[in-house]
Amino acid sequence: MSQPFTLPALPFDENALAPTISAQTVGLHHGKHHAAYFNMLNTLSEGTEFADMALEDVVTGSFGNAEMQKIFNNAGQAWNHILYWNQMQPGGADAPSGELASKINDAFGGLDSFKEQFTAAAVGVFGSGWCWLVEENGGLTIMGTPNAENPLAHGKHALLGIDVWEHAYYLDYQNLRADYVKAVLDNLINWDFVADRLSLR
Ligand code: MN
Repeated sequence: MSQPFTLPALPFDENALAPTISAQTVGLHHGKHHAAYFNMLNTLSEGTEFADMALEDVVTGSFGNAEMQKIFNNAGQAWNHILYWNQMQPGGADAPSGELASKINDAFGGLDSFKEQFTAAAVGVFGSGWCWLVEENGGLTIMGTPNAENPLAHGKHALLGIDVWEHAYYLDYQNLRADYVKAVLDNLINWDFVADRLSLR
């Protein structure tokens, strides 16, 4: 994917994630917020070294450079939300299995404990940001990041990412970020998709 960077269509209907995430939230989040990151990325990257790059390379190539902060912010958010939508499955799988399940057990002491630790980390992200399940050195860790930052920018591999910007949950959960994160983990995650991302790098 290089310029023009193009917003992928939602992989499901806007109402498919309800009642966990309402059609109104999905519509605004994908059709306005996610789209705006792509539009701004195209505007900012036109005529620059980033125009012919894959989106992933724009993310890693612009991170950490103050002059490229706006490019990074929009490329990061464009990338982050692609993972966010693709990991969702209406009426998601009940639980991880196989290698992913054993890695979750090893790292967190089981799925319920993982959900508790992940939710606590997501609540601990101050202001806007993301919370991620990361594969690192063969094991799994949880990582919170501010604003548009993601594991990719830090040379790490994300398996799952939950948006904790208020636009992701405020219409449905108001200030209750923990309830939103827990509901997504319980009801929407496609654990087979997450497992397929193991050792992609
Ligand atoms: Mn978002």
